[in-house]
Amino acid sequence: MTSEFDVIRHYFQQVADGIPLGVGDDGALLDIAPGHQLVTSADLLLEGRHFLADTPPETLGHKALAVNLSDLAAMGAAPLACLLSLGLPQVDDDWLQKFSSGFHALAKIAACPLVGGDTTRSEHGLVIGVTVMGTVPRDTALRRDAAQINDDVWLTGTLGAAYVALQALWGKQVASVADREPLMAHLQCPQPPIFFAPQLRGIAHAAIDISDGLMQDLGHLLTASDKGAEIDYQALPSHPAIRQLPAAPLAEALLAGGDVYQLCFTAPEAHRNTIAKLAKQHQVQVSCIGRVTQKKGIAIKHLPHPNLIPAQLGFDHFLD
Ligand code: ADP
Ligand code: MG
Repeated sequence: MTSEFDVIRHYFQQVADGIPLGVGDDGALLDIAPGHQLVTSADLLLEGRHFLADTPPETLGHKALAVNLSDLAAMGAAPLACLLSLGLPQVDDDWLQKFSSGFHALAKIAACPLVGGDTTRSEHGLVIGVTVMGTVPRDTALRRDAAQINDDVWLTGTLGAAYVALQALWGKQVASVADREPLMAHLQCPQPPIFFAPQLRGIAHAAIDISDGLMQDLGHLLTASDKGAEIDYQALPSHPAIRQLPAAPLAEALLAGGDVYQLCFTAPEAHRNTIAKLAKQHQVQVSCIGRVTQKKGIAIKHLPHPNLIPAQLGFDHFLD
């Protein structure tokens, strides 16, 4: 018989360097450097809603943490530690071994040790809740509400890959995509720009991660900043494997496709070279896709047809 405490001890209790007190007490103790602020964020992943039951456990462990690290990146924060709350239908040692190794592997790379959580039986399928904590020097976080008129609008990474992979998983095969493997990797194993993003503090004005789709999330940033933007459709960084898609599904993938754990940020034109240099150092693809305007809304220039704007601009759990 495996108890709850055996599961915690065996799979989740790790020695974490630099952590005064981690898993095992009623709470963890963390040190924060003087003059810094704590950034916190949480994301819930539910079987059937956020992932299918047959998702490989290692990639699920990776993704549960990656989607949270994406939020820290969007704040320009350096990871500090994370918490993991699990609802498990049963104790499946093979699954737990693979899930925890995917989780710990990314936690190690990101320097974001697991310091606590909760473990319980679930009658509602698998439930995975992760909370991350990060730090920023006081008043330097990249917020949504700080975009300035004439800022460049930038994106990291590429668009559309995860969307097309998800369509394929749902059995809605999108035409003309020959090789699904690299697309599936974007969906199941996202790689948010965790080391690049903190470098944008003091350079970028505003930032958001575009996990629910470019139009929707850029829209959130612009609303918070009380601004609009002009976006060049031809400048959008489409994933190479989806470029052959017909115009309408391509536009939908680029503009509204979700599960993109990348950043959209705004920065003054004067920082173009610095941003390009930092991106190169960190091997992150960056694209300048437009600029911030006083006029509200998002205007999209150079669309192949004016009627290509998707009806639903992004993902919403209560609308889908
Ligand atoms: P409590 O009774 O305070 O809820 P628990 O018995 O649930 O504490 O947990 C014991 C210890 O194990 C705590 O330090 C808790 O943070 C940690 N813990 C529980 N589940 C997990 C998990 N899935 N990952 C990491 N730490 C966990
Ligand atoms: Mg508990």
